[in-house]
Amino acid sequence: MAGIENKNSIPRPTRPNDSSGRTEQSFGQARPPVVVIMGHVDHGKTKLLDYIRKTNVAEHEAGGITQHIGAYEITYKSRKITFLDTPGHEAFSKLRARGAKAADIAVLVVAADDGVKPQTIEALEHIKKAELSFVVAINKIDKPEANPEKVKKELAENDVLVESWGGKVPSVEISAKQGTNVSQLLDLIELLADLNEFKADSQKPGEGIIIETNLDPRRGIVASLLILDGTIKIGNYISSGEATGKIKMLEDFLGNPVKDATFSSPVLAIGFTKLPLIGEKFVTAEIPFSPALKVAKKIGEFIEKSLEIESIEPKETPNLVNIIIKADVQSSVEALKESLEKTPLENGAIKILKAEAGNVNESDFKMAALSDALILAFNVKIGAVSLTEKQKENLVSGEIIYDILDRTKIAIEKKIKPKVEREEIGRLNVLAVFRQEKGRQVIGGKVISGEIVKGVRMEVLRNDTIIGQGRIISLQSEKKEIGKVEVSREAGIGLDFGEPKILVGDIIILFRKT
Ligand code: GDP
Repeated sequence: MAGIENKNSIPRPTRPNDSSGRTEQSFGQARPPVVVIMGHVDHGKTKLLDYIRKTNVAEHEAGGITQHIGAYEITYKSRKITFLDTPGHEAFSKLRARGAKAADIAVLVVAADDGVKPQTIEALEHIKKAELSFVVAINKIDKPEANPEKVKKELAENDVLVESWGGKVPSVEISAKQGTNVSQLLDLIELLADLNEFKADSQKPGEGIIIETNLDPRRGIVASLLILDGTIKIGNYISSGEATGKIKMLEDFLGNPVKDATFSSPVLAIGFTKLPLIGEKFVTAEIPFSPALKVAKKIGEFIEKSLEIESIEPKETPNLVNIIIKADVQSSVEALKESLEKTPLENGAIKILKAEAGNVNESDFKMAALSDALILAFNVKIGAVSLTEKQKENLVSGEIIYDILDRTKIAIEKKIKPKVEREEIGRLNVLAVFRQEKGRQVIGGKVISGEIVKGVRMEVLRNDTIIGQGRIISLQSEKKEIGKVEVSREAGIGLDFGEPKILVGDIIILFRKT
């Protein structure tokens, strides 16, 4: 791991000592990590996946990759890593929903010439929600305009402090185009895998997640499975949601027929009698699944649905917008649902009360009236002769999906009351002014409350009045650049504005918008 020792100071765990780097323990075997690559469009996710595949799948094998099954497996330093291979950013990509459920580790790609963008923030939200370990890959460092420090600063502004900025998130500067430092990135992934100790048991019946489905004219229903635990075998019974079957054929990600497969491997399976849903869990068994199980599941779903209706948020709940989705087919319903769920909203949240295929009917309007919900109607009929003003206001309908999404976003924002809140992080009493120049000031002082953190917003308080605002762009303690200085300590800080001029005795207040 030469070359990144200085930048990445997380404790290095000692590796287990067999040649595969993995040991077998009584409570299971080490499971290779499943990695998802996330980030803003055009920041280089595909390029990175291509580079990793090209350089870590043996050439005669790579040539055999004729099919796209949604994931691939590499062997790096004798250890396996599985990559979800679905970085497309088509509006309804299921990548994130699926990736977040299936993956253990995320790589957040941020282009060094572009910085943190909306989909970067969106990806971070998914990472947080799924509690994934992650590493930041600052990409395109071969470009002359690359500015990795700017990326780190922008990440800090979004509460992601990389190690070189005094935080805990490992980061590596790469060029997916030239391959620079990609091996360091793989080292970091293995390190995170070691720290997390993902475990599984090959003796158990196989289970995992459906990552891709396909209706092949020759072979019938073809499903890509990511095995997360156990072993699956030809002849096993398989069940995923409403879809069941018996496995007739298995292929590894290179298209080679296999008799069985175990955890972290992506495989292609033939044998479902109904198309399973992408992102859905699957389980396997040696004996057929009892129909009673399915009935039990249906009852469970029913109870869940009833509870959902009972728990409709009252109208008064601030900043929560209820939504009902109706669309022509189930795939459009899912697509709309996913897109809405990942739309970043500054001051509010949405709750989807119902999402189903079919025309908008009387009971949808009833539910909407009860909960002040917005109804999204894509490519369906509105089953009401005339609408009241309120119903019109709460209905977004049309036949162009992007247009519906845009208008829904506007309607949601209209419902959310603006609410800007902030959280104070710390205060510093200015004891010295070192330098004041155009666009920049360097001052020194003592932290009198909380802590001072590089990259965050600040304002200057003088005689109970805020006289200016800016950001902490550099932070030193005892002549060393660091990410954070705690209360009672002295700090030197660089600020990103030249005016107004700060005076000894001013107070610097650091805050975050929540
Ligand atoms: P994605 O949308 O995140 O999957 O981005 P792509 O992988 O499709 O990359 C977008 C564009 O950036 C393509 O034209 C790539 O060739 C280019 N690109 C990706 N990585 C690099 C890099 O490291 N350096 C340079 N110079 N270009 C890159």
